[in-house]
Amino acid sequence: MSWIYLDGKFVPAEEAAVSVYDHGLLYGDGVFEGIRAYNGRVFRLEEHVKRLYDSAKAIMLEIPMTEEEMAAAIRETLRKNGLSDAYIRPLVTRGVGDLGLDPRKCAKPTVMIISQKWDAMYGDLYDVGLTAITVTVRRNSPAALPPNIKSLNYLNNILAKIEANVKGGNEAIFLDDAGNISEGSGDNIFVVKDGEISTPYTANNLKGITRLAVIEVALARGYGVKEANLGLFDLYTADEIFVTGTAAEVAPVTKIDGRVISGGRPGPVTKDLMEGFKEMTMTTGTPI
Ligand code: PMP
Repeated sequence: MSWIYLDGKFVPAEEAAVSVYDHGLLYGDGVFEGIRAYNGRVFRLEEHVKRLYDSAKAIMLEIPMTEEEMAAAIRETLRKNGLSDAYIRPLVTRGVGDLGLDPRKCAKPTVMIISQKWDAMYGDLYDVGLTAITVTVRRNSPAALPPNIKSLNYLNNILAKIEANVKGGNEAIFLDDAGNISEGSGDNIFVVKDGEISTPYTANNLKGITRLAVIEVALARGYGVKEANLGLFDLYTADEIFVTGTAAEVAPVTKIDGRVISGGRPGPVTKDLMEGFKEMTMTTGTPI
């Protein structure tokens, strides 16, 4: 049986339910995180909790517990479920209100922590690489919805995923309003060219925690890494492309918009970083 943390109590998954008047459901009014635990340790727990609280702060949502209490509840959820390798989904909604969207009508936030086993998100594709599609739907403008609010409103990302799906891709790559490469539907993007690694600035995408971890791995392994404005040309002429995210981890991209990248196989730099990231996840983190 799986236990869900719901407003301070553990509830069996089949019984864990929220009201139809919860504004998380009615309006996507809430924030969330995706976290992984490896080998009995939660990877970058503090960073994820901090990002959750920053997202909440930005939308004036006061999470009714401290960051330390949230981190403790996440670890307790894993212990309760007997998980040492897991994907963890804390989410906080505005709570129950009426059918109007005014958040002041919501008396208290709903806090949930879901955890489960979730092996490599893309299965066998890590060996052959993903097929990516740059989609026509643009990343939400930061002026309309700042990408660093990790909100429950993922419709922009879902539209991108739908477009990639119908065009035969495994992952969608967004451009921003200016035509710069932004990110994937649920991950950040990197390109390798002439031995140097580049990734978009974080003005138009989510500042991924995996992104930063992989940059640290790359620097420790002696690669040059830079942030840059990247365009379609940079993708189409890349030696290697990969995406990073908590769920996706480090995933090679070997085809983009019909162009074959790196001979259609994961390239040497990507493979080196996949190995380095794996080592990092297995040896660092907060004990459960
Ligand atoms: N961009 C988006 C839109 C995401 O949903 C995610 C997943 N959280 C990422 C990037 C990667 O972020 P992280 O490495 O912190 O999981």
